[in-house]
Amino acid sequence: MAEKRDYYEVLGVDKNADDAAIKKAYRQLAKKYHPDSNPGDKNAEAKFKEAGEAYAVLSDPEKRAAYDRYGHAAFDANSAAGRASGFGGFDFNGMDFTDIFGDIFGGFGFGGGGFGSSYGSSAGGVRRGADVRTMVRIGFQEAVFGCEKEIEINYKDTCKSCSGTGAKAGTSPETCTKCGGRGKVTMIQNNPFFGQMQTVTTCPECGGKGKIIKDRCPDCRGTGYIQTKKRLKVNIPAGIDDGQAIRLASAGEPGTNGGPRGDLLVEVSVTEDPKFKRQGNTIFSTISVPYAKMVLGGPIRINTVDGAVEYDIKPGTPTDTKVRLRGKGVPYVNNNKTRGDHYVTLMVKVPTTLNAEQKKALRAFAKSCGEDVDKA
Ligand SMILES: [Zn+2]
Ligand SMILES: [Zn+2]
Repeated sequence: MAEKRDYYEVLGVDKNADDAAIKKAYRQLAKKYHPDSNPGDKNAEAKFKEAGEAYAVLSDPEKRAAYDRYGHAAFDANSAAGRASGFGGFDFNGMDFTDIFGDIFGGFGFGGGGFGSSYGSSAGGVRRGADVRTMVRIGFQEAVFGCEKEIEINYKDTCKSCSGTGAKAGTSPETCTKCGGRGKVTMIQNNPFFGQMQTVTTCPECGGKGKIIKDRCPDCRGTGYIQTKKRLKVNIPAGIDDGQAIRLASAGEPGTNGGPRGDLLVEVSVTEDPKFKRQGNTIFSTISVPYAKMVLGGPIRINTVDGAVEYDIKPGTPTDTKVRLRGKGVPYVNNNKTRGDHYVTLMVKVPTTLNAEQKKALRAFAKSCGEDVDKA
């Protein structure tokens, strides 16, 4: 959930898939997860977007080449790969999926627009809000079995006084005269090598909003938003690991000019456990067993995340023996019915405080084995 999935994996095609195979795979996924077929299903919507993004990249030869070379970093404006690929900062959220749809589903009869239009082009400065990250600390067992946590976040809510316009009650924002409401201006620069060059930049007058507020709303100081504290319940799935994150759709920053909200990513920090170590879905622990029991065999109690279980040691078990407790490990996040294993290392417990009688008995035992503890 935390990591962005591989685009080939998303579409379920292999790295050498040709255009037709990619298109076919996308068509199937898009049909399955299309919002019109899954109204209100956030998971389907996320899957739909994920597939659309993967298709947008893999169906474009240049983007595909950049992705094959740099992975997701190719589209990250903040990475060297993003700068090298020329696609850094490519805005998937501003992407109009209806374009792909027209292409793929032309005449298929899916209700037009409903979904695509809300993610339409950025004309008029419509932008999706930024994703916000926060962290929640949970215990080892909570990570294994899942839990519900309440978190408090800073949440930007639409200002009620101005309905989010940022303009004082009774006034309204005016169209920016510098950019004519486009939010972008074209500048002509004289370059010593290339002569005159045209560059399009964000309008310095309105900051890209396309509107100017003369009288600011006093309640939000013209921002259109009020910062509030919001308590949210987060369902943390069983099997989550340290550093993974849960995405709460539309709990991030508000969009601009009617754009959708970003998401909230809740990163999980798992507290270490004194008894159990975890590696993926496997749990490891160590237990000390008296020498006599290792030699003669017998039952022991082993602590697991499900509580203590009884285990029969075989006679003549050497120290450092690893015992596998099947299915006593961590559940898989995507498939809670399957769990990893728990490995227990059995170590011989060496007594350090023996009384005279016990020492005598041990010497007698050694002697009966033909050993002399006093000789090298
Ligand atoms: Zn402007
Ligand atoms: Zn306001």
